[in-house]
Amino acid sequence: MSGARKVFIKSFGCQMNVYDSHRMADKLAPEGFAETATPEDADLIILNTCHIREKAADKVYSELGRVRLIKQAAAQEGRRVMVAVAGCVAQAEGAEIIRRAPSVDLVVGPQSYHRLPALLARVEGGERAIDTEFPVEDKFNALTPPSREATRRRGVSAFVTVQEGCDKFCTFCVVPYTRGAETSRPVAQIVAEATRLADAGVREITLIGQNVNAYHGNGPDGRASTLGRLLHRIAEVPGIARLRYTTSHPGDMDASLIAAHRDLPALMPYLHLPVQSGSDRILAAMNRRHTRADYLDALARVRAAQPAIAFSSDFIVGFPGETEADFDATLSLIEEVGYAGAFSFKYSARPGTPAADLADQIGEDVKAERLARLQQAIDRQQADFNARCRGRTFDVLLEKPGRHAGQIVGRSPYLQPVHVMAEPALIGDVAPVTITDVDAYSLFGVMARPSQAREPLLMRAGG
Ligand code: SF4
Repeated sequence: MSGARKVFIKSFGCQMNVYDSHRMADKLAPEGFAETATPEDADLIILNTCHIREKAADKVYSELGRVRLIKQAAAQEGRRVMVAVAGCVAQAEGAEIIRRAPSVDLVVGPQSYHRLPALLARVEGGERAIDTEFPVEDKFNALTPPSREATRRRGVSAFVTVQEGCDKFCTFCVVPYTRGAETSRPVAQIVAEATRLADAGVREITLIGQNVNAYHGNGPDGRASTLGRLLHRIAEVPGIARLRYTTSHPGDMDASLIAAHRDLPALMPYLHLPVQSGSDRILAAMNRRHTRADYLDALARVRAAQPAIAFSSDFIVGFPGETEADFDATLSLIEEVGYAGAFSFKYSARPGTPAADLADQIGEDVKAERLARLQQAIDRQQADFNARCRGRTFDVLLEKPGRHAGQIVGRSPYLQPVHVMAEPALIGDVAPVTITDVDAYSLFGVMARPSQAREPLLMRAGG
């Protein structure tokens, strides 16, 4: 394949899909595909789908309805547009997508998108191709590194997938089925990717994986590494100022990872550690493999190692069988921890997961009412957390131009967006900013003198 063609990739869902979309674009670049932000201009449209949210497949089919119109309009101009469905819905639905959506030329799962060029060649040969295998070859070895220009365009903060799949089998979750068994990339491969990113100007790396703290990739000595040791190794990459990781399981907060929170200044004091419920009965029904006490103990150990740590979490309300007492236990856990933020969702059944078959499903009205109460509690804690940032000076990674002239948007150590008036030349710097104002989700500040002392933030919202 050759020539200047355009690919439009729409990502749904989590950071792992954003990462995969970038890597698909990188794989297609040597094939002559340039990225476009306009689907109407594209010769190839890829929907990189997510299966986590409710009615995920329905949403993909309705999106495909819009894509079909674009494809038809292009055909009237004598232009062929190829349409691919990638990601977790592609993995789960497979041939059903080809059957239901005649506009789709290609279905490719999250473990086989490195084969895109060969699959597109088959499509160009007149086939409608499906590849939802879990191949034996190493996908990451078969991917193409991004160009410096592509990396720069994507900004100073980057994701790197270090681990995929999950062996935990929480009863509500599709990940073990769509992403497969847990696998970890070797340390050397990840360090090489981090080094390339740093050389192109990236300052912050977030290591991502469905269960990232179960990371156990091969180290240079041939032995399995841990996420803690990997973080230490990446912190040595020249140019990398900040590290984060997500998403973690409470049962995998091992000693090396907790020590990294104490020993690595580059590791930001912000941990997203999903708990889902505060009730032991529901945690057992979810097959979370930890209790409320285990979870609180993990947080306490991290807090002892890094007193400035702030926490966020995920919650599911209305899991089958959840009583008012179970829900109260979740609210009391929230009060006990004091979160800086959280994601919360109503339980919705995923076909093929064990919880979908449980008898005592909760009514929508009950779920909605509980979700509203939970979100109120979290919003209050988040507002409290942000309010306590007012008057503080802390380091901000300046990321990109803001909406107003002369403004730059950066990120605090706690991942809050920070708006500050500053020179565009400072993008990519980590600079001290004094917070002068806050709203529900953002901070506003002024550049501080580099010598101005950063206060250690002993941050705890709520209770
Ligand atoms: S640990 Fe996370 S990814 Fe794994 S099954 Fe549970 S919810 Fe899904």
